[in-house]
Amino acid sequence: MSKRKILVIYTGGTIGMMMDPDTQALRPFEFGNIRQQLPMLDLIGADITFQDMLPLIDSSDTNPDFWVRLAAMIGREYDHYDGFVVLHGTDTMAYTASALSFLLENLAKPVILTGAQLPLGVIRTDGRRNILNAIAIAAEYRNDRPVIQEVCIYFQNNLFRGNRTYKDDASRFNAFMSPNYHNLADVNTDIEFHYANIHNEENPQPLIVHDTMDDHVALLKLYPGIRPEYLRAVLGAPGLRAVVLETYGVGNAPTDPAFGQLLKEAVDAGIIILNVTQCKGGGRVEMDRYLTGKRLADIGIISGLDMTTEAAVTKLMYVLGQIPDQAEAKQAMQGSLRGEMTMDS
Ligand code: ASP
Repeated sequence: MSKRKILVIYTGGTIGMMMDPDTQALRPFEFGNIRQQLPMLDLIGADITFQDMLPLIDSSDTNPDFWVRLAAMIGREYDHYDGFVVLHGTDTMAYTASALSFLLENLAKPVILTGAQLPLGVIRTDGRRNILNAIAIAAEYRNDRPVIQEVCIYFQNNLFRGNRTYKDDASRFNAFMSPNYHNLADVNTDIEFHYANIHNEENPQPLIVHDTMDDHVALLKLYPGIRPEYLRAVLGAPGLRAVVLETYGVGNAPTDPAFGQLLKEAVDAGIIILNVTQCKGGGRVEMDRYLTGKRLADIGIISGLDMTTEAAVTKLMYVLGQIPDQAEAKQAMQGSLRGEMTMDS
């Protein structure tokens, strides 16, 4: 059997950063000499090509335009490679993984994002193992079909569904979590795939690479004491089409009538309000559990169920980019598009 062809796209992030001698701060540098840093690449048994996506960025500069360009790059190379690895900063990796999952419809090949907490050139780097394992996973085929056919994040021995993750820790190597969906694989002495959790495309359809996202989406986190005028300022922003509302617990919010009235006026004006929980460790929005949540459902706020904030924001940008009509977009938001939320059974 010929070697699997893997394209590794370097976008920036700590993994490839070096210390700027003038400022002593880390900044991205072109990845040219990666093979010298990673001689073990040859042992993977795959045919690996590296490409920079320029300009290299710290992932704090990620935005919808970047996601569309990255999706287009994968789309252009889709038929030429068996799998893709995207090297990306950790700060917004969960947003990018979520956005790519929506932009790449009918994906039937692996797209694995990874990065590092410490640059490759540093002795204790986690980047070396993350890259090598991500490439090995992308090259894994069974019965001549890729084992992974979705957008994932590989980090510190865990393979996650990308649109289920968030960055949980600023310094631990074990930086990502997927509280509401099981790992797709665990990497120890062996790579153990959990096939029941992995999306399996029986009849792959041609890949569709979407190229529009609408960023008229706001994210609003509730906190005790939030002033109505702050809420009014967000909800009154020109062009606003949707809000991700991070509520308490299972989807609860203050019962203050003035607060409810502002939300109701926004919903009545056609703004989509999507309720997700602030609880990072897991759980789902159930607006019928408490009166405080039920009031939100009654005014037409929709449930994000167990979606992460990262998936909610990027899904809205994707859906609004495809669907100009607010009522239709609201409807589309309530289904799971790429396994990003667990539907009620
Ligand atoms: N600031 C960096 C980035 O997200 C952090 C990292 O890569 O871990 O690009």
